[in-house]
Amino acid sequence: MRPDWDSYFLKIAYAVSERSTCDRAFVGCVMVLEKRILTTGFNGSPAGQPHCDEIGHLMVDGHCVRTIHAETNAIIQAALHGVSTKGSTCYVTHFPCINCTKVLINAGIVRLVYSTAYRKDENAVNFLKVANIEFYQKELTTDDAGAVHPPYPHGTGLVVMPNIENGEE
Ligand SMILES: [Zn+2]
Ligand SMILES: [Zn+2]
Repeated sequence: MRPDWDSYFLKIAYAVSERSTCDRAFVGCVMVLEKRILTTGFNGSPAGQPHCDEIGHLMVDGHCVRTIHAETNAIIQAALHGVSTKGSTCYVTHFPCINCTKVLINAGIVRLVYSTAYRKDENAVNFLKVANIEFYQKELTTDDAGAVHPPYPHGTGLVVMPNIENGEE
């Protein structure tokens, strides 16, 4: 079946997430304007630095702080190449953290489509509402996900991520 545009770009976000180097979360982000991809990003270390999958995580207060998050990386890539993200839609595999949410707001996005509500932050939700950014969850089916996102040996990925929003662990 031919996917709708939101499914199409979310699937690409999952393909991007496969490049992530921190297995605590394989996150992928694609920013789109008028059905064209402006920039992409995944969770990874700063350029030229060792990755979590090489030397382990850098844990602070229960979070791995080695990586730059996918959404922030996507915006950095846009900045590096002189591409404006104003008015774009952000497609992301996981609901953004509070910091990425603030970055996305200031990057001028008007819409956010996410696939899993993993660690959905109520403060981030409120920031999006105040900023008038339309956001919604589009869950891909297992078949959709399987087509673009091969199962990882450590069990992350679309199907098995806990969905905090729905109270599932
Ligand atoms: Zn890590
Ligand atoms: Zn983030």
